[in-house]
Amino acid sequence: MTRDFPAHVDVAVVGSGPCGAAYARILSEQRPDLDLATFETGPLLADPPGLHVKNITDDAERRRAQLRSQGPSPAPADGRLARPGTFLLADGYQNPGEDGLPNAAMSSNVGGMGAHWTAACPRPGDSERIPFVPGLDELLTEAEGLLGVDAHAFDDAPFAAEVRKRLAAALDAGRRDDRRVQPMPLAVRRHGDGRVTWSGADVVFGEETRANPRHTLFPEALVTRVLVEEGRAAGVVVRDLGDGSEHRIRADRVVVAADALRTPQLLWASGIRPPALGRYLNDQHQIVYAVRLRDVRIPSAGPGTGSGHGPDITRHSGVSWVPYTDDEPFHGQVMQLDASPVALTGDEAPAPGSIVGLGWFCPKDLRPDDRVAFDDTRQDAYGMPAMRIHYRLTDLDRARLDRARTAVQRAAEALGDPLDDTPRTLALGASLHYQGTVRMGTDNDGTSVCDSACEVWEVPGLHVAGNGVIPTATACNPTLTSVALAIAGARRIARTLPIQRH
Ligand code: FAD
Repeated sequence: MTRDFPAHVDVAVVGSGPCGAAYARILSEQRPDLDLATFETGPLLADPPGLHVKNITDDAERRRAQLRSQGPSPAPADGRLARPGTFLLADGYQNPGEDGLPNAAMSSNVGGMGAHWTAACPRPGDSERIPFVPGLDELLTEAEGLLGVDAHAFDDAPFAAEVRKRLAAALDAGRRDDRRVQPMPLAVRRHGDGRVTWSGADVVFGEETRANPRHTLFPEALVTRVLVEEGRAAGVVVRDLGDGSEHRIRADRVVVAADALRTPQLLWASGIRPPALGRYLNDQHQIVYAVRLRDVRIPSAGPGTGSGHGPDITRHSGVSWVPYTDDEPFHGQVMQLDASPVALTGDEAPAPGSIVGLGWFCPKDLRPDDRVAFDDTRQDAYGMPAMRIHYRLTDLDRARLDRARTAVQRAAEALGDPLDDTPRTLALGASLHYQGTVRMGTDNDGTSVCDSACEVWEVPGLHVAGNGVIPTATACNPTLTSVALAIAGARRIARTLPIQRH
């Protein structure tokens, strides 16, 4: 069936993950006069659009939704880590002689990776923060509202308080209040009946966008080019993946929120090639370890104590946070693994919440040579310019990884008995937090792609969004920051587009 595509919209958004959804939401709220369209290359998985797949209770249906998110021709994992709902780069992920990003992954579905994420939403601290974004804290607060962030959804998870007490005793000395060990802010909602739901792009879109008659979401619609006329963004070319037809859609503003690898890809394909495009690519290198809590007893069954029935424990029950500081430059994510629904019988059964996974994320030593490059002669499975990753760890990166190994061991020792002899270093790209490829800056000096409201220096009217916009070396999970920056961009569009009289 052929679909009708509009000939003109006021704002065209490319990509329906949390950042594209933030533009649609803010513009729906602030400018109900505007015609908005969101184009998404992946399929619609569920209703409401952008729903987190973990909220799909039927196992087979959830698995199907994950498979449908894995792109047109998922690459074989070849021993690489392919998480459900994501797909890896088919090739070009490791140039000979370089470290590469073997685990670089993407998701193609309405909601993007935000339909599959873990929903950790810490605020950046110290040098993770972007110093030149006006009102960053207020933007982060609004982003927390859009994502439905709650730091206390799992306060009653078994042993969560004990985990934090032990970590704090070992690690809090010398830290500012806001950088002490604390519950991880999570984009989850705990309902009155104890059910927990995860925020996806559906929560960001909200009723404000769904009820907006001037917003349309087009799934399975690949944007192949951003149109530029007289130096300004002028629209998009969209390929309907249903029937292969191509459509030119004029737009006064274009927002590309197509993840940190495909946003620069689309700009490149459109002939928009500023010097910093694709450069400063950075991933958060990760050290993981697991311990069994020392000296804890299986509590008697009761609310929140892990009876093994019902929703009182979820897979991520009890998530604690050891915030990044410049002195201790790691982001620590401490997740108590659920033991239910395994029957808790016998002396050997671990108490729910007593097996604790520690993940220490490191910031990258930023370098322009770490980049995603594009090929004008070879195409990926979507027919877009093929990617080639150039990525190396520096001496500083290796030193930080060594330090993170020591730091995670210290945290583990405070908690209990390690399950393995030594911490494990995950293959590069495993963090799923790729940043820097369309970074913002204070001047158009060749080291950035866009300004502090995410508008591309070289193409007024074109905004970029997502983790690629973040210019600092962060270790904390980036989505909250990226949504905050998307809000700044959406507000500028809301402020500057003339009122439309229909
Ligand atoms: P995405 O969510 O990736 O969405 C981009 C969308 O653009 C995709 O749907 C894609 O199909 C679409 N697109 C691409 N190219 C085109 C095109 N040419 N035309 C049309 N559409 C296009 N982050 C955190 O902060 N905390 C976490 O705890 C966390 N955990 C994670 C766990 C997992 C398993 C995964 C997979 C990710 C996790 N992340 C986490 C990362 C987080 O999901 C991303 O940071 C977030 O989704 C980025 O949002 P986005 O809108 O920029 O991009």
